[in-house]
Amino acid sequence: QVAMEPPKIHRLDESVVNRIAAGEVIQRPVSAVKELVENSFDAHSSSINVVVKDGGLKLIQVSDDGHGIRYEDLPILCERHTTSKLSSFEDLQSIKSMGFRGEALASMTYVAHVTVTTITKGQLHGYRVSYKDGVMENEPKACAAVKGTQIMIENLFYNMSARRKNLQNSADDYSKIVDLLSRFAIHHTSVSFSCRKHGAGRADVSSVATISRIDAIRSVYGVSVARSLMKVEALDNDPSSSVFQMDGFISNSEYVAKKITMVLFINDRLVDCTALKRALEIVYAATLPKAAKPFIYMSIVLPPEHVDVNVHPTKREVSLLNQEVIIEKIQSVVESRLRSSNETQIFQEQT
Ligand code: ADP
Ligand code: MG
Repeated sequence: QVAMEPPKIHRLDESVVNRIAAGEVIQRPVSAVKELVENSFDAHSSSINVVVKDGGLKLIQVSDDGHGIRYEDLPILCERHTTSKLSSFEDLQSIKSMGFRGEALASMTYVAHVTVTTITKGQLHGYRVSYKDGVMENEPKACAAVKGTQIMIENLFYNMSARRKNLQNSADDYSKIVDLLSRFAIHHTSVSFSCRKHGAGRADVSSVATISRIDAIRSVYGVSVARSLMKVEALDNDPSSSVFQMDGFISNSEYVAKKITMVLFINDRLVDCTALKRALEIVYAATLPKAAKPFIYMSIVLPPEHVDVNVHPTKREVSLLNQEVIIEKIQSVVESRLRSSNETQIFQEQT
């Protein structure tokens, strides 16, 4: 046997590297929407409107009324690793913004056509500029603009034919986008949201800013969901085991669904925590077997150093310091809430 010649190692073109990386950050249309809406939160917007065409493959447009982007920053806006939110690695400890990597907009320009329209406070007109592969395609053009920023993502994955085909065949992303915005809308109650299909008169998510969480849930998930919810709260201040605060709404025995809805925010980040979800499913199955697929909204606040936010950009799954202790405590709060409501219910039925 003759030994095979080793294949030659060469450096990949930067454009290839960037496109591969971009495909990981922006896996599907809903990931682009999440990044754009989180940028709008970071810009302190009070109104965020989303328009989607063809499940997001033709068009995703996110408009906000936030602080806008400086004219001088437009040339580097969509370069990789450019951000206004983070300077040193240590800042990560205490970061409050959703973003910090400076990768989202850049990624979008490697897999789609990106057009930004923005105006900052005190300006008479805004600017519009398009980007491709990280760079401006032309000088920013002056244009009429209302407060804030509008970002348009067109022809997503135009240069990744396998990804595009896959997404076209699978059930489209529009319902995932509606689901995402519904979750954001019930947490960020001081922001008004809308989400519609391009050309549609009616919005599929539409919420106005309110001070009451239950009002927000009612307007997004409907009257019958809101009617079956109970408030839960927990506060733990024992530095030797865990420090956290939880508040939320959980469904009672009236709420019957085919699958669990768990809307979880940890330090204002929308995340998944499979262990917590399982733990709560177990409590429901044991306490309310007929209503074992609950609706749960929960917001948990922890010391920032107890959560690692620097996970992969698309990984929503988190694990926390003292996770077992926290889960056990939440489980017991939920269990006693369900038991007491069940007893009231039985009492009412008997009398
Ligand atoms: P990151 O959010 O991690 O900083 P992005 O690529 O998402 O990275 O955005 C890059 C920068 O562009 C942000 O740091 C912010 O300064 C600016 N930016 C993006 N979207 C908006 C927006 N809707 N309003 C104001 N500024 C924005
Ligand atoms: Mg961002």
